[in-house]
Amino acid sequence: MTIDSFIHSRIGLYSAIFFFSLLAIEIVAIKRFRARGRIPAKDAALGVLTGVLSDPVNALSAFITLGALSLVEPFRLFTIPTTLATFLICFVLDDLRFYCHHRVAHRCRWVWAMHVVHHSSEEYNLAVALRQGWTKHFTGTMLFKVPLVLAGFDPVLVTFCGVLNATIQFMLHTETIDRLPRWVEAIFNTPSHHRVHHASNARYLDANYAGTLIIWDRLFGTFVAEDRQEPPVYGLVKNVGTFNLFTVLTHEYVGIAKDIARPGLTLRQRFGYVFAPPGWSHDGSRQTTADIQRDAGILPTPAAATP
Ligand SMILES: [Zn+2]
Ligand SMILES: [Zn+2]
Repeated sequence: MTIDSFIHSRIGLYSAIFFFSLLAIEIVAIKRFRARGRIPAKDAALGVLTGVLSDPVNALSAFITLGALSLVEPFRLFTIPTTLATFLICFVLDDLRFYCHHRVAHRCRWVWAMHVVHHSSEEYNLAVALRQGWTKHFTGTMLFKVPLVLAGFDPVLVTFCGVLNATIQFMLHTETIDRLPRWVEAIFNTPSHHRVHHASNARYLDANYAGTLIIWDRLFGTFVAEDRQEPPVYGLVKNVGTFNLFTVLTHEYVGIAKDIARPGLTLRQRFGYVFAPPGWSHDGSRQTTADIQRDAGILPTPAAATP
């Protein structure tokens, strides 16, 4: 059995059963037991549709990532046997890989064009977790898995760790769980930490990139705690405002295409519209996260920063 068929048959099936069981529990908890949270039908339907259809699309394009991993495997420095201990080490290292991918996904418009789909809902529930872009294998950041294979981990194990990480992250997308015990909140990504990540409030932007372990955000200075005085406002700084699947999946790519086709730009400026942070513009007419946070007084303005 190839890696591809293994991942997309067994794990895909079990993941789907797991996802929909938990989603059903969340719906019952909210509707019947008045648990905290909202699941509007139209928004949830788009999430489920995006998620279900992304599986075959990702399976068709997975050859890009899997091909790269197979290509580098003969050049591995060591051959690490798959045991419980090496699985745990691989999972932690792959979680760091996810942090790097996720941070780039928010800081580079080319990758953001794929990831924006996940942030395009103005709700926060388990169905939002299923709302994922379909172009992750085209972004280039899946190549962050290459060092793990070069170090000697089995590509199947590396791929499995990524799928397991995504499955764990699915459970974070809920308002029905408020806070977990302090030690859990200190080490692991939790619904509270990930609510911050999905918020468009100025102080919450570009924070908490973690997959499973929040320690990466604490280490690299991107952690922001959820403040009860400032509830998250979910969605984008500028929301898409549609439930049209095609528009949700492609709107940022269309934006990039329109920007690079604008007349009179230098090559460097066109390059900026593809790879600079979202909100960058050649004439400063748009706002990046840094601009928004400076306006909100969260970051110092350049003048104030100069002694
Ligand atoms: Zn994100
Ligand atoms: Zn999320």
